[in-house]
Amino acid sequence: MAQAQGVEKKQMRTPIESGCPDGMQYMHPLMVKNFGNWKYHDRPRPGVLHHVAYSGDEIWTVRVGTQRQLGPYEINLLCDIVDKYGEGHVRFTIRSNLEVMVSKWEKVGPLIQAFNDAGYPVGGTGNSVTMISHTQGWLHCDIPATDASGVVKSLMDELYEEFIKEEMPNRVHITTSCCQINCGGQGDIAINIQHTKPPKINHDLVANVCERPSVVARCPVAAIRPAIVNGKPSLEVDEKKCICCGACYPPCPPMQINDPEHSKLAIWVGGKNSNARSKPMFQKLVAAGLPNNPPRWPEVAAVVKKILYTYKKDARDWERVGDWVERIGWPRFFELTGLPFTKFHIDNWRGARNSLNASAHIRF
Ligand code: SF4
Ligand code: SF4
Repeated sequence: MAQAQGVEKKQMRTPIESGCPDGMQYMHPLMVKNFGNWKYHDRPRPGVLHHVAYSGDEIWTVRVGTQRQLGPYEINLLCDIVDKYGEGHVRFTIRSNLEVMVSKWEKVGPLIQAFNDAGYPVGGTGNSVTMISHTQGWLHCDIPATDASGVVKSLMDELYEEFIKEEMPNRVHITTSCCQINCGGQGDIAINIQHTKPPKINHDLVANVCERPSVVARCPVAAIRPAIVNGKPSLEVDEKKCICCGACYPPCPPMQINDPEHSKLAIWVGGKNSNARSKPMFQKLVAAGLPNNPPRWPEVAAVVKKILYTYKKDARDWERVGDWVERIGWPRFFELTGLPFTKFHIDNWRGARNSLNASAHIRF
């Protein structure tokens, strides 16, 4: 349409670009200068990486464990240390460690001392128990059945010595996940939520809150059907089919799956993404039905430590947990760790013929 005379043309709003900013602008200048031109790296001590560039430049990286959920006080404290003893450049790793880069070896000692004095350990490199990775939990997600950060903090307090030393046969990645279906990942040892009862449905709310076809479509075993309850549109669950996965809960909060008693924790063992020395592996369930017991989850810590220290004692150099179990076999794993082999280790789901390779009891 022709623009009316005298009417000013509206300027289109420039789209706001969201997403990750370009990381190069925040990098240590030596890293920018030598980007893609590194000759080798080594580890002069646990928690410190040393990179040497073809240009002859050197850079030391100090890795610091954090409590994962950092408030303004902790961030200011850490940044003050970095400004005073480092060179003002930091980055966070995917396991929530802080890494501080400095261009002189002489700066490394005082930097470590300052972090230690403030209560922050330096470690997590090489054959250590690296910082436990965890999912978002109650801070950022609407469906968690446990406080993943709390499990991580309480467990890392117990594994402090294994973080600051490199005394494991190979690196150990521990992961946590606060629901059964979304984030989380393969870990040498994984602590995952395990729902043991089908969802309790709040029929009064379903019609107001849920898009019923999406909820029906979410169920991996087709256990949900539309239903009329008390004269209102709602849903029903075939409890014989339900595998208690919790997938119906995110799109429909009235499908209440979280439960203080029946949402348990399970431990899985032997997963890895790495291709080094052996193929990537899926983790397998080894302990089920552990109580979700905040604030310190002692039952979970006991099982994790049992597995970890048996591995430390029995594995050969450079075997990851999964490699170790492959060599000794699952029956021996249960014997050595003293963990009971229960019915929960057997995948008896009717779709199991497709997934038996992912359970501990049999391998083709
Ligand atoms: S694991 Fe599940 S509950 Fe936890 S943050 Fe991820 S999606 Fe949310
Ligand atoms: S918990 Fe999982 S299996 Fe059970 S009804 Fe919900 S989506 Fe289906």
